[in-house]
Amino acid sequence: MATKETWAEQVIKQDEIDKYLINGKDFIDEQEILSHLEDNKNPDKQRIRDIMQKSLAIERLNPDEVAALLAVDDEDLLQEMYETALEVKRKVYDNRIVFFAPLYCSNLCVNSCLYCGFRKENTEEKRRILTMDEIREETRIMTREGHKRMIIVFGEHQRSNADYMVESIKAAYSVQEKSPKGPGVGNIRRINVNAAPMEISELKKLWEAGIGTYQVFQETYHKPTYKIVHPAGPKSNYQWRLYALHRAMEAGIDDVATGALFGVYDWKFEVMGLLYHAMDLERQFGIGPHTISFPRLTPASGSKLSTKSKYLVSDKDMKKIVAILRLSVPYTGLICTVREKPETHTALMTIGCTQTDASSNIGIGGYTDALKAKALAQAKGIKQIKNKQQFILNDTRSLDEMIREMAKLGMISSFCTAGYRCGRTGDKIMGLLKSCTEGKFCKLNAVLTFREFLDDYASDETREIGFPLIEKELAEIKEMPFYQKGKLHENFLKKYEQISNGERDIYI
Ligand code: SAM
Ligand code: SF4
Repeated sequence: MATKETWAEQVIKQDEIDKYLINGKDFIDEQEILSHLEDNKNPDKQRIRDIMQKSLAIERLNPDEVAALLAVDDEDLLQEMYETALEVKRKVYDNRIVFFAPLYCSNLCVNSCLYCGFRKENTEEKRRILTMDEIREETRIMTREGHKRMIIVFGEHQRSNADYMVESIKAAYSVQEKSPKGPGVGNIRRINVNAAPMEISELKKLWEAGIGTYQVFQETYHKPTYKIVHPAGPKSNYQWRLYALHRAMEAGIDDVATGALFGVYDWKFEVMGLLYHAMDLERQFGIGPHTISFPRLTPASGSKLSTKSKYLVSDKDMKKIVAILRLSVPYTGLICTVREKPETHTALMTIGCTQTDASSNIGIGGYTDALKAKALAQAKGIKQIKNKQQFILNDTRSLDEMIREMAKLGMISSFCTAGYRCGRTGDKIMGLLKSCTEGKFCKLNAVLTFREFLDDYASDETREIGFPLIEKELAEIKEMPFYQKGKLHENFLKKYEQISNGERDIYI
């Protein structure tokens, strides 16, 4: 086996970068981004309103338009932007929020990212890689909460290579777990992957293992900052990372996800970087990213940068980021996470996010450890024992609590995984999203999976709020002309009846 060092040295395949460059250049031109920000720094109100009309027509904005939105500071206009962002979300995605949970498999890492507790120099971090039995146990615990969608996460290391990832994915998919209430047997139905950039042949292995989305965050699009915060390891190669999703597309993974780690550099520059990333994927493959994430830097063990960065983003700016992304790429899913404090997390979900995690644990073996710690604490009559995680999670509400909170706000929680299992991925799903059709299928699948959750996992308080919400959805669906086409409504009602009678994993 190669040593850790030689393995890390052969990760990057230069020809799998060069093939995507245009005249030897990548798609991030710092000067061009700065010029857009400078040229649009005083937009008038009418221009902003015109831009919002374009978003409402579900068209992607161009760099000048996004730069103009980034310059808005007027409170009334910002309020209009939040409201329009929500309207755009409703048009494309209806009132749904999709839930998932992360499974961290390994914190072995050859990189030195200054913001991350897993970086190789951090001696405070206890290194661990899960066995397949441990992965199945972690999955069982997540499934018992009601989760159906997982993001599986790995540090970059020869021991957590693509073959290990494939084995882990298969192990997680294999779990079938009786639900704590109701008649259901739960399982993970979609596994997305967050892992280091890989070469095309390795990415093909992930695709063949049946992954949903492949996710790589660029962290920062600003090249000089990227260099400083990634001083060593394969991740120090900016362009290898920048084209990770291009290679994934070429490997057949047509749902790809990008993101930036907000707080590492100026947030306005990062929003522009995300836009350029979406534009280049559109240009080279005809579709942009399936989702965009905007993790905010949170304190991590052994990382000064995570608390001392001069670019840390305020709650107010975080709201702007979500609204502007929603308006800029109206048909792209937006993911917020439990890194946010509960109030901000809820606020972001109600501006335009489409997905979030809940009841997450990001320690390696963290779900199992937390369960053991809880049992021990209960036995000793003490409060929760802390377990090691990559960084701090601020929203520790359970999935049931979060779903209840969303239901109170009139939002329906979804565990739908129908899209990719029915072949509605890549350009097919983008077409449906742009024409606001996919959201309509999702509304039906959201009701079906929400009903499953209420029957199999929800507390009495959540059921009390959830069932009236389902009745409201059923009434709306009955009235909407779209569902009267063909036998769609009739089919849906049949499936809803099957779910109510205890059948599971039924979708449209
Ligand atoms: N090793 C892979 C990589 O770097 O792409 C995947 C795993 S890494 C743990 C997943 C993500 O965690 C990173 O892309 C980064 O954005 C995020 N992350 C790392 N440190 C963080 C911190 N202190 N606060 C918030 N997010 C962080
Ligand atoms: Fe390793 Fe990823 Fe953490 Fe960087 S962010 S140290 S690559 S796990």
